[in-house]
Amino acid sequence: MARSSACCAAGPSWTGRTCRSSSSTSPCPIRLPRWPTASPSVSPPCGRSAAAACASPPPTRTRPPVLDPNYFGEEEDVRAVLSGIATARRIAWSSALAEWGIEEVGPGLDAVDDQSIGDYAKKHFGSYCHPVGTCAMGEDEVSVVDSELRVRGLDGLRVADASVIPSIPSNNTNATVYAIAERAADLLRRR
Ligand SMILES: Cc1cc2nc3c(=O)[nH]c(=O)nc-3n(C[C@H](O)[C@H](O)[C@H](O)COP(=O)(O)OP(=O)(O)OC[C@H]3O[C@@H](n4cnc5c(N)ncnc54)[C@H](O)[C@@H]3O)c2cc1C
Repeated sequence: MARSSACCAAGPSWTGRTCRSSSSTSPCPIRLPRWPTASPSVSPPCGRSAAAACASPPPTRTRPPVLDPNYFGEEEDVRAVLSGIATARRIAWSSALAEWGIEEVGPGLDAVDDQSIGDYAKKHFGSYCHPVGTCAMGEDEVSVVDSELRVRGLDGLRVADASVIPSIPSNNTNATVYAIAERAADLLRRR
């Protein structure tokens, strides 16, 4: 089982009255130009996912590898959501935003205790699509690539994409992949 970082979970919290839904899994129908939303995300998550790339029988084009994102497998990730939603509510209910007509879409005003907010997150939060780390970089012998992107045990092969990032960065991953690509180009030029 290759260990990798699960996609960050993101989900709805509150929105201005111009938007009916801010869920990452049900697109927001924008009806008016202003649609402020707040959607806490667990980034980076503490939970680690698993990809059965070396399963037996091995994955094929018609039998894809089994991926277990393990969302909210760690209690700390649930606590991060609770904190995020509390912060979103504090901002939404501030006097500065009073005239914006803020309405909470989810988890909803009935959800006041940690248990119901956590249950809501587990049921409704979706992927932020930032999986990384199936070929994690590191200096120990279980790391797939070293700090110069070279695959251990093989000559002349480097990996330069999101799979080498050892854990999900707290920024978005696309720019990080660009930085890795630039670094790979520098390494190859220097060779
Ligand atoms: C829906 C979605 C939304 C996202 N939104 C954001 C965002 O807003 N901001 C952000 O920073 N990041 C975002 N990300 C994450 C970001 O897109 C990825 O982290 C990044 O693209 C990863 O780069 P990569 O080069 O590792 O992989 P990819 O960009 O997935 O590139 C892999 C490439 O390999 C090709 N390929 C696959 N198999 C083969 C094969 N057998 N032979 C030849 N080629 C092959 C694919 O066609 C693809 O072009 C999003 C991801 C998704 C899925």
